[in-house]
Amino acid sequence: MVRDPLIFAATSDLAGKMRGKAFPSRKLEKRIKSGVGWVPTNGLITCFDTIAPSPFGSLGDLALMPDPETLIQVDFEDGSAPERFVLCDITTTKGAPWSCCTRSMLKTAIARLKACAGVTLNTAFEHEFQIKQGPRAGGTAFTLESFAAQRAFGETLMEVLGRAGLHTDSYLKEYGADQFEVTVEPQQGVVAADQAAILRSLTHMTARRFEQAITFSPITDPAGVGNGVHIHMSFTNAAGAPITYDPAGPCGMSHTTQCFIAGVLKYLPQILCLLAPSVISYTRLTPHRWSAAFNNLGFQDRETAVRICPVTATDPIGIAQQFNFEIRSLDAASSPHLALAALVHAGCQGIEDNLDAPAISEGDLSELSPKALADSGYVRLPESLKIALDAFEADKVVRGWFPDTFSQVYLAHKRAEITYVEGMTDSDRYDAYAGVY
Ligand code: GLU
Ligand code: MG
Repeated sequence: MVRDPLIFAATSDLAGKMRGKAFPSRKLEKRIKSGVGWVPTNGLITCFDTIAPSPFGSLGDLALMPDPETLIQVDFEDGSAPERFVLCDITTTKGAPWSCCTRSMLKTAIARLKACAGVTLNTAFEHEFQIKQGPRAGGTAFTLESFAAQRAFGETLMEVLGRAGLHTDSYLKEYGADQFEVTVEPQQGVVAADQAAILRSLTHMTARRFEQAITFSPITDPAGVGNGVHIHMSFTNAAGAPITYDPAGPCGMSHTTQCFIAGVLKYLPQILCLLAPSVISYTRLTPHRWSAAFNNLGFQDRETAVRICPVTATDPIGIAQQFNFEIRSLDAASSPHLALAALVHAGCQGIEDNLDAPAISEGDLSELSPKALADSGYVRLPESLKIALDAFEADKVVRGWFPDTFSQVYLAHKRAEITYVEGMTDSDRYDAYAGVY
């Protein structure tokens, strides 16, 4: 069949979806300069395609500006049309970053980190997802048999991710029903978020070719565990040397690490709506699901919002190279760019305010009385999207990290999403999210 190859110009938007428009690939050079037309009200399109009340209405014009460094061209060699897409910044017609461009917001956050701490952020994303299969009586967690049942899918996925320039690390049958996980190696700055968005898209594209229904939805069944997105972070200095670790610091945290984590934990309740942005995200963020229900710091503890991870090296240089911490509250309803921007700003605030190192949490915080919890210095994270949005709205410091109109647009967008799913039965609501992520 005759074909004129198309490149899809994509933005990872406020709904955590990749949206955009395609142009003939032979016009790439021209489009890199002139962009692709985009509309402000598109930022109000929810994950369900409803449009939240828009401050822009039918007015205004924007441009999706392709970043050629992010061009993905992957041929699955199965006779289907190769996938071609490129990530974009959204600008005004005068070329300034648009106030709701997630990629531009992340660039601002990364620049702030460089300015306040002189460090580069290295980030590795881990994604859990489910491959919907027929009913099964359990016995699948981490098993060879269940892995083998999806080996072909996993091998194609790893090859495709590799061809797209991602450095793949592992693919596993996770604990949950039908649950798998794919991890990639760390990348610096914005590239890590770009690759997270690319990974989600390529996983869906692989699934389509296997005629498999998959979902990254935060949770598909309240009786089971959720699908998390965990972010491993570490810092390097201008010379590329690791500076996350200090043998003299608490649990090995360097001063920068302590302050950064303190900022993340202090502001976690207020930024949670950007990390766990769906209505059902808050079912996942409940105790005993190995996600994050409190703003606590753990040493190798998977029931904490931030976990200091183990290292296998025993010599100081090896330890410093491996040392990293993991942020566990995210899910894939978030834009990786927006979520990372929020985390980096929170960390920068912790560095700029020289916040003290948080104490390591011990035991099960969910079993503490309200008074004992208050004494521990930790708080239960918002228990619904509505409460999380209110916490964001009420915090002037946090809103100040983002461009002026962003908060207004984001709050309108997410409140419309709440309204949309409000009348559904629980099971319809889980299915609706499973269908769109
Ligand atoms: N499924 C868990 C989550 O929702 C994470 C389990 C793990 O890999 O530690 O984040
Ligand atoms: Mg996992």
